[in-house]
Amino acid sequence: MYRTHTCGELTINNKDQIVTLAGWVQTVRKFGAITFVDLRDRYGITQLLFGENLNKQLDEQPLGREFVLQATGVVNERSNKNKNILTGEIEINVTEFKILNKSAVPPFTIQNNTDGGDDLRMKYRYLDLRRNIIKQNLQLRYAVNRSARNYLHEQGFMDIETPFLIKSTPEGARDFVVPSRMNAGEFYALPQSPQTFKQLLMVSGYDRYYQIVKCFRDEDLRADRQPEFTQIDCEMAFVEQEDILQMFEGLIKRIFKDVKGIDYSESVERMSWEDAMWNYGNDKPDIRFEMKISNLKVQNQNYFEPFAETEFGVFKNAETIVAICVPNAAEYSRKQTDELIEWVKRPQIGMAGLAFVKLNNDGTIKSSFDKFFNEGQLKELASFCNAKTNDLILILAGREERTRKAMSELRLEMAKRLGLRKDDEYKLLWVLDFPLFEYDEEFNRWVARHHPFTSPKPQDIETMINNNPVIEVAEKYLDHPYSKIKANAYDIVLNGNEIGGGSVRIYQRELQEKMFAALGMSKEEAQHKFGFLLGAFEYGAPPHGGIAFGFDRLCAILGGSESIRDFIAFPKNNSGRDVMLDAPSTIDEKQLEELNINITKRN
Ligand code: ASP
Repeated sequence: MYRTHTCGELTINNKDQIVTLAGWVQTVRKFGAITFVDLRDRYGITQLLFGENLNKQLDEQPLGREFVLQATGVVNERSNKNKNILTGEIEINVTEFKILNKSAVPPFTIQNNTDGGDDLRMKYRYLDLRRNIIKQNLQLRYAVNRSARNYLHEQGFMDIETPFLIKSTPEGARDFVVPSRMNAGEFYALPQSPQTFKQLLMVSGYDRYYQIVKCFRDEDLRADRQPEFTQIDCEMAFVEQEDILQMFEGLIKRIFKDVKGIDYSESVERMSWEDAMWNYGNDKPDIRFEMKISNLKVQNQNYFEPFAETEFGVFKNAETIVAICVPNAAEYSRKQTDELIEWVKRPQIGMAGLAFVKLNNDGTIKSSFDKFFNEGQLKELASFCNAKTNDLILILAGREERTRKAMSELRLEMAKRLGLRKDDEYKLLWVLDFPLFEYDEEFNRWVARHHPFTSPKPQDIETMINNNPVIEVAEKYLDHPYSKIKANAYDIVLNGNEIGGGSVRIYQRELQEKMFAALGMSKEEAQHKFGFLLGAFEYGAPPHGGIAFGFDRLCAILGGSESIRDFIAFPKNNSGRDVMLDAPSTIDEKQLEELNINITKRN
């Protein structure tokens, strides 16, 4: 037997017991004739005391960091207690020890505050995973996983595996492809999600399906994206949107309870996509705080009349002008407002400037465009924006899309500066009624905003069927009836992050064919790509719908982190590489030959 206990469980209640522990040497501290060693395993750290009697053996077999050590001894009360850890009141007075394996000097310290940089830690991820902080993240991930499984199982969902070697599923990214040796010149695609399979399972009668499953999307990576990531993927038959919303807000509430001990008893707020864009400039607003956007001018339509006659060029020529009121910020100094101006000019935000109005405590009102507006007009503006004394009104002007997006970023930034985005506060939101289509100006065609299996709102089906999708002048796409069609689609948002999204699906062949046609697919192409699904819809497909949650993201938010990578055991870096494995990499000539592949190097 290698051990009687773990390094995380012995307390004063075990005093005088003879125990054997096994683990990794965290630190070795020599004090004259005695040596203290902190021994670590997955469960914790226990202090070992090596007395004089073991000096000689220690000299012959010196211990180093990360050596694997087995030690037997007596549990003693410690004189110098550490109240912060469970084992902090005891130590093991070692009588016998054995080095089970040596370790090279690790390239960074295995501590929460490690001296290792990102790249180094990724290269030696197996060492990084020994750090407590990462271990806690993986434990949290497992807790979320268990909680979700328990809930879904109790609700009658069945975990059914679906294949990884498939044909393309369109979720809006590129596919990863796998060449087939047995079918020369042909390729499988890795699933961007199990979307079509879960729908087929509904046709097969498995009316409540789930899977915690890997999805693969070949996209340009941002800090919080991974080419392979995990979803809690779910589908239900004989349901309407309302049933799905209820079921899955239940899931998240259960996870809150099991993992964080939070009772989220209020019902989840709901907002239409249009309201989200109008009031927050964003389809995933953080509603832990207000600071709604005031729309002064939108797409050249003036909502705040005085701006219609202004001589101030910035406002006069802008397509859209929006504002927010930042509470208690009227005292911002010149330096602070200058700094905000620089902030909005950063390339990521991309605005030309920022105008502001200060509602000072003494009742006066000052703006950065005083030359063009008298006090009365400024007061009118303040009242239009519902500003209060001591508010700082921030105003952005420019092209509609960019300005709205910039304002949504500025809103979040100001909330962060004011401490309104609290890590320990959780606020869920359903965003509903998304547009069914988006216009792709590059390819001059409509694309599905969610995916092509999402159903239009019943009242919009006629519009979809009766209108030709083709647009002569690309810029005029907003005038096309398709831009008004709404989908039975929903996202669930947590603290400004989209943590899940789904839709009620199309389940009739004709409507699905119409949808493919609307997306510019010929009948032949639709048959070639999705013949299996269209075929299945002819054999009694039930009404159905579902959702998928971004499991890694959900874990990161619950763990209070920005990065999903910290919650994945073996993640890829920002260029999609696994630096530990050194993948992707070239393969042997022989393998290429078997696969019938010739590599043509492109420069
Ligand atoms: N398959 C969708 C996605 O990955 C989710 C869903 O519609 O259920 O976003």
